[in-house]
Amino acid sequence: MNLIDKFGGDHFIDGEWVTARGNGTFDSVNPATGETLRQLTRGGRAEIDAAVASSWRCFDNEWSRLGAGERGELLYRWANLMAEHLEEIALLDTLDSGKPIRDSRGSAQRGIKMLKFFAGLTDKLLGRQIPVAENLLNYTLHEPYGVVGAITPWNYPTTNFLTKVAPALACGNTIVVKPAEQTPLSALRLAELAVEAGLPKGTVNVVNGFGQEAGQALVAHPDVPKITFTGSTATGLHLTHATEGRVKSFTLELGGKTANVVFADSDLDAAVKAAAYTCFMNQGQTCTAGTRLLLEDTIADVFLERLLAYVKTLKVGDPLKEDTQIGAIVSASQFERIAGFVAGAKQEGAVLLCGGEPLAPAGCERGYFMAPTIFDRVTPGMKIFQQEIFGPVLSVVRFRDFGEAVDLANRTEYGLATTVWTHNLQKAHRFVQQAKSGIVWVNTVHMLHPASPYGGYKQSGLGTEMGVEIAHEYMRHKSAWIQLDTWKSPWQ
Ligand code: NAP
Repeated sequence: MNLIDKFGGDHFIDGEWVTARGNGTFDSVNPATGETLRQLTRGGRAEIDAAVASSWRCFDNEWSRLGAGERGELLYRWANLMAEHLEEIALLDTLDSGKPIRDSRGSAQRGIKMLKFFAGLTDKLLGRQIPVAENLLNYTLHEPYGVVGAITPWNYPTTNFLTKVAPALACGNTIVVKPAEQTPLSALRLAELAVEAGLPKGTVNVVNGFGQEAGQALVAHPDVPKITFTGSTATGLHLTHATEGRVKSFTLELGGKTANVVFADSDLDAAVKAAAYTCFMNQGQTCTAGTRLLLEDTIADVFLERLLAYVKTLKVGDPLKEDTQIGAIVSASQFERIAGFVAGAKQEGAVLLCGGEPLAPAGCERGYFMAPTIFDRVTPGMKIFQQEIFGPVLSVVRFRDFGEAVDLANRTEYGLATTVWTHNLQKAHRFVQQAKSGIVWVNTVHMLHPASPYGGYKQSGLGTEMGVEIAHEYMRHKSAWIQLDTWKSPWQ
């Protein structure tokens, strides 16, 4: 029996496997082979109602009655159990999403680190005593919302799941998660492991299905005061209007169009490899992927020559092979979307330097593989400069000086991350100041740590994930006022 056949249902609610009735089914497909891994029943309003009720029961009767440190210990146990099952979780993500197995292991390890960090934070989310007046004691209490609703995308199934669940639970909430329909599997196994680790049933509920059914029901649910969403800007914006008239708190982690800016004075060996890695890793399906390569014009030609030579060495193929660097695109429809952008770029006059076509690696002839693609002579008005493709497509633009580089880097509606390569200290810090994005990397790419805040500017998001800042996302702040002498009316 393989690891997916062992699943006892398609949803995990109140510590039990559940099979939905009446909504039809959907397929979880391995995009490297086109094979169906599992046919799942579609969760809808009934499953969301059951999951939300279970999460409230758990919150009221068990989770909120534990001490913060006890909650931390349970999260730590869950992390350790996940570490024992790391290969299994990584395999589920690779089968479901097409990402290379070594990347899936890395994602699972990041998830464990996330759980451990937030396990340690549970009893350090402190209120304040504020010196408002000599005869008044004013202090704040951080209080959980109760039940949080989370909706996640398919690009990093395990990390996206734990980036929501770990801080929400650390702040004292319980949670209902609706994973992306393309990658429903690892969330189910993780929720099952949570119960095995001793978390009360209902702390983490998972309902799989379509965004417009299960996702919409979760967002509109009257008993879910907080929604945390990661996905496209269009969907995030839509959700803020889909609460059926209720005021809710939202954390939105949305799209990106990261500029990777290379000045002539940088370490070109490192910058060439980073330019390929930041754009093509995870098949370009990363919100912070450096998809716009801005090159100082004095080094542009030599940089591109070296980049093209390096890209030829990258191994695109079967995601289950240990040496594969670039795996499969997540689905047929995502593949078609990327191909549409490639065709559009050619029509708009960008110059194709490499890639742009489908690949059929040995053993994966029916999968969705796209060659790493580089377009030169891209201009800011072109769609591939402005829009998020979410595929392995790099746009190259040249710049003359610092001011033009900053202007080009900031000239999209997104503001998630910016990367800059230079050995000039002043230039580096000035770039950090002037970049309109929530993250700036200097002489490095894709650095993340659960202790460091993560969030987008402009259309890339609202709020923060990770860091101690999560107390502002997953908790409410109550202000308590205690009169220390006899209250005197201002009317006297
Ligand atoms: P998406 O289409 O916006 O979907 C994200 C999630 O929202 C899925 O679970 C989806 O369900 C659900 N959804 C869709 N319509 C909904 C609705 N009307 N009501 C409730 N839920 C709904 O995004 P995606 O294609 O999965 O993911 C790619 C996007 O995620 C990119 O834009 C990327 O930049 C962004 N992303 C951002 C970050 C970040 O931290 N900023 C990280 C990772 C990814 P279905 O399964 O039915 O589609």
